[in-house]
Amino acid sequence: MDRLFFDHAATTPVLPEVVAAMEPWVGHEFGNPSSLHAPGRTARAAIDAARESVADALGCAFGEVVFTSGGTEAAVTAILGVALAAPADRLRILISRAEHQAVLGTVTILERIGMRVEWIDVDAFGRPRLDQLENRMEDDVLLVSTMHANNEVGSITDVVAVGSACRQHGAYHFVDAVQTAGTDAWCSKLEADLIAISGHKIGGPKGVGALTVRGGTTIKPLIAGGGQERELRGGTENVAGIVGLGVAVRHPDLTANRRMARDAFLMELRNQRSDFVESIAADAEQLAGHAHLRFPGVGAETLLIRLDRAGVAASSGSACSSGSVEPSHVLLAMGWARSEAKEALRFSFGRTSTEEQAIEGAKRLSLAVDEIKHAAAS
Ligand code: PLP
Repeated sequence: MDRLFFDHAATTPVLPEVVAAMEPWVGHEFGNPSSLHAPGRTARAAIDAARESVADALGCAFGEVVFTSGGTEAAVTAILGVALAAPADRLRILISRAEHQAVLGTVTILERIGMRVEWIDVDAFGRPRLDQLENRMEDDVLLVSTMHANNEVGSITDVVAVGSACRQHGAYHFVDAVQTAGTDAWCSKLEADLIAISGHKIGGPKGVGALTVRGGTTIKPLIAGGGQERELRGGTENVAGIVGLGVAVRHPDLTANRRMARDAFLMELRNQRSDFVESIAADAEQLAGHAHLRFPGVGAETLLIRLDRAGVAASSGSACSSGSVEPSHVLLAMGWARSEAKEALRFSFGRTSTEEQAIEGAKRLSLAVDEIKHAAAS
């Protein structure tokens, strides 16, 4: 039985050209980029080339790119870094309720260091409510954090509008662009002060990412160390990972392929049955590779286990802690009941997904749902 992988929003295979570019840096090239001798300079040049690529892809200056250990570290550095440098008259931080754990995880620390965190509600698709954001904006807001595309439901936020509300009040705007960087959902008009991206979502390796820090942003390092990355991220750089990220951001986006696979999957599923609910309206902007849906009465965990046995990898937004499955905070913020949120499934398609896989996946899903329903009825 062929295994089918429909969880590309969680991670996606490393591109062959990324593997090839990284290979010397896990082998014979071993210079420390801070060393002044030839091997060190070679490593520095490799990092510089990657920095150039990332700056190019994200539309920022070479010196505005800080390499990190991934999207989480980039988000945490952005939020806590500006909070540590906050002036006494700007202590409010506005965060959308549907942000990733990378952002939510900073909240207790922010409060401990004296910041006031306020939540921005989201609409039925998980996008922060602009009207509420604009009402809350005053000149004492330090930072607003809104993700570009939601990793669970795939909805895309108008981050340019959020950015302009921030600029009117001199607040920083942080955008978690982990799900959109390197795709055609990327917004070239994005002028956020801080942007986080991650290597392993775009065909690069895990454990590497980048934060862009617009010139003029007052920010302190969380890892001071030896002053690497313009004193914003101490520690000898992950040269192989950074080289891989630099190649991955240059890879042509294959959004059309993702969309084709997602559409083929949904079309086949609709042909098979009608007892499911799609979470995002067809006319709302959504990531091309995302299908987020639920089968009323069918628990997501039960269905995911059955799908896994049938060779299909998908996911739910639920976090499993201490043996109980907690419904996704994103879906609850969107107004879903807890029981509905426990039925939600995400199928996310990638560069390597094919139409045949998508159709076969929809058939296996339909069969799995039938089996669960029959078992419950008998
Ligand atoms: N932000 C979003 C929207 C994500 O989807 C993820 C990964 O799941 C992250 C941040 C964290 O990125 P990383 O896995 O590189 O730490």
